[in-house]
Amino acid sequence: MAGVTHADIDLCMLYDSFTITVLLTLENLGFCKKGEGGAFVQSGRLGLGGALPINTDGGGLSSNHPGMRGIFLVIEAVKQLRGECGERQVNDCEIALCHGTGGMLGLRHSGVTMILERCTRGASAPRPMMTLTRNMPSRCRASTRSRRASGKRCRRHELYMQRCRDCRRSATIRAPLCPSCLSERTEWVRCSGTGHGLYLHGDAIRTRAPGFRDALPYVLAYVELAEGVRMLTNIVGCAPDDVRIGMPVEVVFDDVTPTVTLPKFKPAE
Ligand SMILES: [Zn+2]
Repeated sequence: MAGVTHADIDLCMLYDSFTITVLLTLENLGFCKKGEGGAFVQSGRLGLGGALPINTDGGGLSSNHPGMRGIFLVIEAVKQLRGECGERQVNDCEIALCHGTGGMLGLRHSGVTMILERCTRGASAPRPMMTLTRNMPSRCRASTRSRRASGKRCRRHELYMQRCRDCRRSATIRAPLCPSCLSERTEWVRCSGTGHGLYLHGDAIRTRAPGFRDALPYVLAYVELAEGVRMLTNIVGCAPDDVRIGMPVEVVFDDVTPTVTLPKFKPAE
């Protein structure tokens, strides 16, 4: 759509949430065939000086991963296009590709690809980069409203989910749009609060976030509620070593402050 081919890309900034994410992204973007991502990166072409430098800021592990890393992909790409990267500068970097994924990969996720080009026509005639954000303001407002509504119900120690009024089958804890049909017509439905631990991210033993230091070690996990909704949460009320994938859990509410209550899950009785 941007009128460039793979060979035109001088730099790729790919969200590297997990090692395999980069391989899958390279395959899905068409830089190599499906299943050939491993061989593609082993050739050494991803390094500085290679044919396709990737994540020149060091990636999420070496640079930073504050939770929302996508913007840092764009920042590094813009710095490279401006020639501001010093020792890690990609030679003649004129076109950069940024790609981010979000959500639960393979289940409900989204992806955004941006092609950025160094503007050589002067500041008076910048080329519009993208129009994807055209409808964002109203949805951002809706998201903020829904976040407030969700927080209010949590403070009453009630767990609600959103259900799509159009396709009915989709359900999320909170989103501005139905993740299945993208409808904005959603309604709130109270959850049973029971379910089972699904994907366990393991227990955190270190954190840079001051607000979470007192809670260490804590277990980060996806819980699937009886209604089919999946939510990222903490497993509490038992030792991290006792947490098992598939264990039945039930919701408990942690009143963190007078205005913030978080739904967490403990082993079901
Ligand atoms: Zn829907």
